[in-house]
Amino acid sequence: MSTTVTEIWKRIGQIADVHVDRHFVIDNKTHSNCLVDLSGLTNPENTGLLREVAIELFRRTIAEGRFDTNKAVMMVGTALLDTKLVELMREINESEPMIESLVPAEIREEKLFVGSDLVNSITPETQVILVQALLQEIKSVNKTIGSVIRPLGSGVRAISSIIDQSGLEADDFGVPFVIALRSVEVLHFDLSTGTCPLCSEGRPIVKNRGQGEEHKRHFPKYKGGYIDL
Ligand SMILES: [Zn+2]
Repeated sequence: MSTTVTEIWKRIGQIADVHVDRHFVIDNKTHSNCLVDLSGLTNPENTGLLREVAIELFRRTIAEGRFDTNKAVMMVGTALLDTKLVELMREINESEPMIESLVPAEIREEKLFVGSDLVNSITPETQVILVQALLQEIKSVNKTIGSVIRPLGSGVRAISSIIDQSGLEADDFGVPFVIALRSVEVLHFDLSTGTCPLCSEGRPIVKNRGQGEEHKRHFPKYKGGYIDL
């Protein structure tokens, strides 16, 4: 039985730090409406949940992108949560083969994971799906595509993530598909070049995340006040 996005989202929200439509102080020059931190998902006690999320992500990626599972390979980033996804992907593949998985060269060199000489079998026809737990910015994605995938003679057919907070379209990444279980709109307000509209409207600042505490020390009388999550 397939889990709905709402159910998945609810479960992720219970154990990871995912807050939208709030007011955060990121640093002394940046405020934001949103905070997404999925590192809690690497906690061993959350492995069951992450496994469910991973299965759902892979199913949707294959279905929505209409990938040929004989030609598709998945490639993951190198962040801690991404490597956790690789472990799960291997387990899932053993019990329920869906797709071949490809571990990035830098991880293979560290011998964190066994096997996978799939790099040698990549051809221009191979459908590479880049998997990132949290899709944030174009720079790191382009680095992976440019330094690891293109030299193998292949392109990326999709970027697939648990949460997409990049605010970008597939065209921006130069790939046919960007698929996420959930997209969130993250706005950053640069105080060195402008004002924060959330401060202007007096939205309470979250004190116990980001640099809320420090902000309170400097501006104890902020008109919107402070809250804890
Ligand atoms: Zn603000």
